[in-house]
Parts: sequence; structure tokens; C-alpha cells
Amino acid sequence: MIYLDHNATTPLDARVGDAMQPYMERFYGNPSGLYRLGRLCRSAVDTAREQVAALVGVEPSAVIFTSGGTEATNMALKGLPVTAGRRLVLTGATEHPSVSETAAFLGGHGLVHRVIPVNEQGLPDPVFVERQPGTELHCVSLMLANNETGVIHPVAELADSVRQRSAWFHCDAVQAAGKIPVDFKALGVHLMTLSSHKIYGPKGVGALIVDRAVTLQPLLHGGGQEQGLRGGTEAVAAIVGFGKAAELARYELEARTRHVLALRQQLETGLRQKTGCRIFAASTPRLPNTVQFALEGHDGETVVMALDRKGIAVSSGSACASGAGEPSPVLTAMGIPAGVARGAVRISLGQGNTPDEICRLLDAFETLPTPTFV
Ligand code: PLP
Repeated sequence: MIYLDHNATTPLDARVGDAMQPYMERFYGNPSGLYRLGRLCRSAVDTAREQVAALVGVEPSAVIFTSGGTEATNMALKGLPVTAGRRLVLTGATEHPSVSETAAFLGGHGLVHRVIPVNEQGLPDPVFVERQPGTELHCVSLMLANNETGVIHPVAELADSVRQRSAWFHCDAVQAAGKIPVDFKALGVHLMTLSSHKIYGPKGVGALIVDRAVTLQPLLHGGGQEQGLRGGTEAVAAIVGFGKAAELARYELEARTRHVLALRQQLETGLRQKTGCRIFAASTPRLPNTVQFALEGHDGETVVMALDRKGIAVSSGSACASGAGEPSPVLTAMGIPAGVARGAVRISLGQGNTPDEICRLLDAFETLPTPTFV
């Protein structure tokens, strides 16, 4: 199989699997145990915390392990202390549902949710944020890089203006971490979401990075783990894997970027030679591994299924999870007409991909069924 859907999830790096193995068998202790087996597991969790912290340039104490990116974002947005009179929650128009749905929930529970519009390149409108009444602003959540288009957002600039108005700033860096340099302090955000399974780590583990200035309300009450913010016995093996994946991502960032960027250039050169191919956000800084495009007249989901029959795994931009066949909300927010957006296909490259696989993908496009709509 040719796997080209690394923004959905990545395969487990064999070195990560090796690091996890002892904690799935021999070292089964509870990190809260005072005896040797417990202390050993506690020490493994501490090491992982240091590795994840180093990936984004923070102190280990800023790292709160969660069950993944979705939980980290819920913890952030639901746990922020609300100051009287500040009820406004702003989120980017192309956020992942873990952000937009959480903000919509808050909108129905005493806060006011507004969406920051984006332009055709997927970039948020800073003027919209400036225009919001500063004294009413509670928090802003903006992703660092978009999961569909790969567009990199100007988080540092926006976070600076939001901080000046004494509001909170949360950043979903799930897709950015491990693909581009991510420096929590340089970005100037208060909270940042990370996820392990996008960086060749195991699924079901992630982290919220919390600035010292923030006192969050816990999402899960329990045994006081994770500084009282996330009760529940730590998923030691998964956390160890996340730590190892973070360490590898940090050491290998440059080489990984070079690898996927070369493949993306090969792919985009091939795509540009195809009549009626439109690459989205083509003139904006994007993640080195991501390209989303539409082939005129083709339906994205039909293309995905046709490629699947040839053993190639890619993603369409549409809301296929709902089975609605609706155009991607991300592309809709960018003002892409529904007829074009319905043709969207996303390729997200990874470390295992080769130039030969890109050639085979481009060849496969030549044999697609005739366009299904015009
Ligand atoms: N944020 C973004 C941008 C994502 O792409 C994803 C996963 O697809 C998530 C958050 C959710 O992360 P998790 O799957 O770890 O809950």
C-alpha cells in the first residue's frame, strides 16, 4: 500500500515501539506506587515529559499529558478562568472540530462564540480580531497549521495583540509540531495542544502545554495526577512512546522536512501539468508535507475510492465522517465554490514515502474514471 494520509495519523516509528515495549510488559507499575516498580514508571513518565517539553521549548512542568489532542483542547477552552464581563470566545474559521465544537458548546453555556473569517488563502483576518471589544474578549483559539490545506497561521502576531488586551490565547499545534519548528514562548501563547499520533507516536495520548500564568479548572477530577489537572492513572507506555516520538521529531526535524518537501515539490510539479488542477492556498506558507487540490470535474470521494482500489490511501477534503458528502468546511470558509471544493483531495506525505510512490500516484491520476460532475 502507498500511504499518503499522514495528517490523519502516522505509522508508529519502530524506535518508538521499542521504547514502549518494556512498559507494556515488564514495567507495569502504577507511577503513584512508592515501591521500586512504581518509581521506575514515574521516572519514565518524567523523562517523557522532558522530551515533549523540549520539542516546544518549555519547562517539563508545563506539560500536562492527556488522552490526545481533542482532550487537551477541551481542557484548555473549558478550563480557562472567565473574568466577569469577558464572555467572547473567538476561533479561526478553519479550526479542527475539537476546537470549533468545543467553542460552540461554550457558546451555548454562557459565553459568546464568534468565528474569525479567513481569506481565500486560508489566513485569518486580523482586523476582525482588532474590532472585537477588548474588554469583552475572553479567549482566542487559532491553530498553527491547518490539517487540510497545511496553511501556517500568523499565530505570534495575533497572540501578541490578544495578550495586550489581557485575554487568553490557545493554539492547536497538533499538525505543526514535528513538521515545522514550534517554540511555545516565541509564539507567545498561553496554551498549546499537541498529539502523539501525528508524529509517529502511539494513538490515544497528547498533551496540553500550560503557561505558568494560567490556572485551569480540571476537566477530569480524580486522583490528583498531572498536577491535579487530569485525574486518572497515567497511560505509561503511551506516554513513553509520545516522549520518544517527540525526541525523534526534534532531532530529525530538518531531515524530515527536507524529505517531504522534495516529494511535495515533485508532486506539485506533476499536478501543475494536469489540466484543470487547482492547488489550494498555493501561494501561502504551508506545512512541507501537505498539499490539497481539486481536479476539475472530479468528485473528491470518488477519487479517494478509485485510488484505494489501486492500493493508494489519500484523503478527500469533504466531511466524509458524517457521510453527508458536503464540501469541506475549511475550503468553504476560504470562499472556494462548492463545485470546486467537492473535488478536493488531500495528500499528506511522511517519512516512509519515496519518489517512486509519487510517480505511481501521478500515473494513477491518469486512469481515474471520467469526471462525475462539471
Ligand atoms: N487538531 C488537529 C488540527 C487535528 O488534525 C487533529 C486530528 O486530526 C486533532 C486536533 C485531534 O487530535 P487527536 O486525534 O489526538 O484527538
